[in-house]
Amino acid sequence: MRLAFPLLFVFVFHLCSNSYSQETGGDLPPALSAIKEKELERDLFILASDTMRGKRAGTLDELKAAAWVAQQAQEAGLQPAGDDGTFFQFFPLYRSTVSEESQISINGRPLELWEEAWVRNPVEANIEAPVVWMDQEEALVDLEGKVLAMDLVPPSKLPAEGISLYVYRYALSAIREQTEKFKNSGATAIILVADSIAESEIGFYGHGFEEGTYSIEKPEQIASQNDIPVILVRGNWKVDLQKENSEINARLGKDQYVFPSANVVAKAPGTDPQLKNEHVLFSGHHDHDGVGVPVEGDSIWNGADDNATVSVALLAIGRAWLENPGKRSALFVWHGAEERGLFGSRYFVADPTVEKKSIVAVLNGDMIGRNEPEKAALLGSIPPHRNSEELVKMAMDANARLTKFEVDTSWDEASHPENWYFRSDHLPYAQAGIPAIFFTTLLHPDYHTPQDEAERIDIEKLTKMTKWMYATGWKISNTEKAPALDN
Ligand SMILES: [Zn+2]
Repeated sequence: MRLAFPLLFVFVFHLCSNSYSQETGGDLPPALSAIKEKELERDLFILASDTMRGKRAGTLDELKAAAWVAQQAQEAGLQPAGDDGTFFQFFPLYRSTVSEESQISINGRPLELWEEAWVRNPVEANIEAPVVWMDQEEALVDLEGKVLAMDLVPPSKLPAEGISLYVYRYALSAIREQTEKFKNSGATAIILVADSIAESEIGFYGHGFEEGTYSIEKPEQIASQNDIPVILVRGNWKVDLQKENSEINARLGKDQYVFPSANVVAKAPGTDPQLKNEHVLFSGHHDHDGVGVPVEGDSIWNGADDNATVSVALLAIGRAWLENPGKRSALFVWHGAEERGLFGSRYFVADPTVEKKSIVAVLNGDMIGRNEPEKAALLGSIPPHRNSEELVKMAMDANARLTKFEVDTSWDEASHPENWYFRSDHLPYAQAGIPAIFFTTLLHPDYHTPQDEAERIDIEKLTKMTKWMYATGWKISNTEKAPALDN
């Protein structure tokens, strides 16, 4: 089905757009028909195309995606609402990487960086030291001036079975725990030998180590005093490390960059002389994971579902809003650098381009185009994550009247292993005491892989999800009293 509503219905609707039509069974927004499958599809295939190269923050590719979004917003007729009368709010992203000329050798044999050895943390070090091989049960010996080598030990709490990115989580937790345990042991470096689980996807998460670390705080403010190199090596290096009188030679350099990232911010003004000073904020992110080690022959993490779907949904909502504005203004924020640590939303909340108290609600979306057509989720909808029962009710009412998704709230439960609520851009807003909810159609096997492609998006479902976000925002925009925070 191409249109969610038959043409005849659209016609009837326009005739009575000032009063609420019976067919809709309640107060639905008048410009629903302005949200078009064809336009969503067209925009999605551009933003998730290979030419965007996965739009990774800290690269020009992200800025290209941001510029494209801003241009679409402008062409739609939205007003710039970023800094200095532009669509952009730039912010500095501090990135540290292990420098390319870094070298590591064991007993005189060099290891190829990012093929045989992965440096977890960019840090400068010159090491010429003996190796102490440690079995897990062994008591701590004197490690001053020595390199500590040992097997990677499974994390004390294994990731839940079936969780997304299992190996990545397994390896990162294991490395983190062992680093914490031994970083103050006096050793000059820690070498961890990957087990078979960690090694099975070492190229994938190891590429993340190669990409380095990101922050929106100046590195001086976060640099730890006792940072020592932590190096993960493939299992076949274990024998060399266990040899008597083994020795490590390593020269590790650290490169630091400041690179701009950007939030794109646009506005559709409201019609009420007073209420137009308040904002319903629609939120998404335009960045994704960039280019990496090929998976099934594809090296571009296009991020079609994550989160081109919501990026194009916001454009569609903007067009609908302009056709028929609500009383309060609509603010659209396409956050940058979400995938690197919710940096765009954190930055915007700390330094918003509109008065913070004018933001009456945040409707964030992340991944809204996959899985069963009839199912969707709304996070922040039940305790402990819910922060506005009134806001949740508006969203649920809009769904009951219009989109009729079967809404899954189980991912909101505190016991849910994915902690999904904490993984998108509504979070900094909720933490700042702004009513916030999170629309999503949840995870799938292509999540954070190069197979998250535009061809795999259910465009009809994306259109329905867009309408749900729009109808919820419309209700908030026109209600007399903005949704209150829970006590
Ligand atoms: Zn996302």
